[in-house]
Amino acid sequence: MIPAAFEYHRPSDIEGALSVLAEHGDEARVLAGGHSLIPMMKLRMADVPHLIDLQDIADLKGITIADGIITIGAMTTQHELINHEALFAAAPIIREAALQIADPQVRYMGTIGGNVANGDPGNDMPGLMQCLDAQFILVGVDGTRKVPARDFYESAYMTNRDDEEILTHITFASIDAGYAYEKQKRKIGDYATAACAALVTKDGDKVATASIAMTNLSDVPVLSEAAAAALIGTTCDTAAVKAAVAAALEDIDPTEDNRGPVAFKMHVAGIIISRAIARAWSRA
Ligand SMILES: Cc1cc2nc3c(=O)[nH]c(=O)nc-3n(C[C@H](O)[C@H](O)[C@H](O)COP(=O)(O)OP(=O)(O)OC[C@H]3O[C@@H](n4cnc5c(N)ncnc54)[C@H](O)[C@@H]3O)c2cc1C
Repeated sequence: MIPAAFEYHRPSDIEGALSVLAEHGDEARVLAGGHSLIPMMKLRMADVPHLIDLQDIADLKGITIADGIITIGAMTTQHELINHEALFAAAPIIREAALQIADPQVRYMGTIGGNVANGDPGNDMPGLMQCLDAQFILVGVDGTRKVPARDFYESAYMTNRDDEEILTHITFASIDAGYAYEKQKRKIGDYATAACAALVTKDGDKVATASIAMTNLSDVPVLSEAAAAALIGTTCDTAAVKAAVAAALEDIDPTEDNRGPVAFKMHVAGIIISRAIARAWSRA
């Protein structure tokens, strides 16, 4: 299939992109790596008369780390995330998760901004961003606002972003915790049947803090505060992990699809969550 005809815009700055968005409203969408939007256009599931390519906007690219805060431009590709050594040192879970997204060809083009703005429950970065308590910086004609990743997702493909806003950056604190991103998929390059991001810190032999978030197990990414609460203060022993998994499973609502029936997904989720917690604890 080829997409319906569209007009292609390639602004060189954010103001230019915002003005095309303001001019065409619902008829315009921004294009990042195109690995989610272009297939939707080819399948005629998205009709976009005005496509605004963000490639030339230098302000949307790059990774900075200062005073323990990591800032990633929305147009930074998964490939760049994987290969950035300072980012790996400050937040190694990003590389671990990004390496499990699709395949190298998709990762060369797919951006972190497109991944989190898309609102696809199958995307891996939204759950990870919730686990990290990241903030999304959005710019519109009325100015800039910051939205926590934990408040951003409303339902599948529906987010807190206004149609005329552009996600410019993502920020979160450097990690000083045990971490793990675990993902079960049908084959290499596939979206998750179930995935889980876990961060755990230690005080003596006890869990001091925990953050657990899941991917593709509801129509939005799910941060399970109950799972974290079940771990805190324990020695992360078998009973505590079992309680955390049970709490996390209460928070998700998977649906049957070509990745399996609900009972299968709940079973896989349980295994993935317990593996993520165990690995994060082993690194704490
Ligand atoms: C074969 C295949 C397998 C894949 N497997 C996985 C996987 O396992 N895990 C996974 O997470 N992803 C997977 N993906 C998706 C891939 O990671 C996408 O690239 C990513 O989801 C979207 O990023 P993009 O830069 O391509 O965005 P685009 O496709 O360009 O845009 C996606 C959406 O986000 C909007 N958008 C993009 N950037 C911004 C911005 N800065 N501000 C506001 N809105 C914006 C666009 O308007 C569009 O609606 C796969 C894709 C393919 C083709």
